[in-house]
Amino acid sequence: MVTMINSNIILLGMPGTGKGTQAKFLKEKHAIPHISTGELFREAASKKTKVGLKVKGFMEEGKLIPNGIVNEVILERLARDDCKKGFILDGYPRTIQQAKFLDKLLAKNGRPTAVLFITVEKQEVVKRLTGRRICENCGKDYNLYYLPPREPGICDVCGEMLIQREDDKIETINKRIEVYWNQTNMLVEYYKKRKYFFQINGKGTVNEINKQLVKLLQEQVSM
Ligand code: AMP
Repeated sequence: MVTMINSNIILLGMPGTGKGTQAKFLKEKHAIPHISTGELFREAASKKTKVGLKVKGFMEEGKLIPNGIVNEVILERLARDDCKKGFILDGYPRTIQQAKFLDKLLAKNGRPTAVLFITVEKQEVVKRLTGRRICENCGKDYNLYYLPPREPGICDVCGEMLIQREDDKIETINKRIEVYWNQTNMLVEYYKKRKYFFQINGKGTVNEINKQLVKLLQEQVSM
């Protein structure tokens, strides 16, 4: 059942804490778009668009894409009609500069913005990321340890081959975690004192975490 919440959601946390998975659930539950900057850039890179060609190298090395490029993409995406009743941001903002840019964009927005900070231990994050497989055709996520496909390497939904993201290989994962600690974790301080900042322990099943998030949004944020 769709429940309107009339708010924006920012999902914060290390790569591999389940932001994307939770965002997909929340999107269905609240009928607001899931905006993953990582997905937007992966799509641009695979289509070899102008932006895609600029960002490919950064992504492959697990480095952050320059703020100017990211902010421009977000500005354009949030201006679309489907964002009029709220949206879920996954993987944005990742730097203080992006957070300030977003604050300015949302200043006239009138809806509350919930910041959901999901925490998971590093060891667990590495396991989740190395085990992650995705279907490029329909977007369904799998995990070799927690949510394997029925037939190895094949998507349950559409039958296409599953792939491992280039940046989910161990060397790049370590770099992404380092980048998170150096550039993104400070956003916790930036958002911590806000009225709608919540920290959630991401240890548990996808459903358990999802229930917690839905309850929290309904009881404490929804207008
Ligand atoms: P993700 O799917 O969120 O893990 O993002 C994959 C990659 O896309 C990251 O490792 C970065 O190279 C790039 N990226 C995604 N979102 C951002 C962002 N907000 N700022 C800078 N780089 C980003």
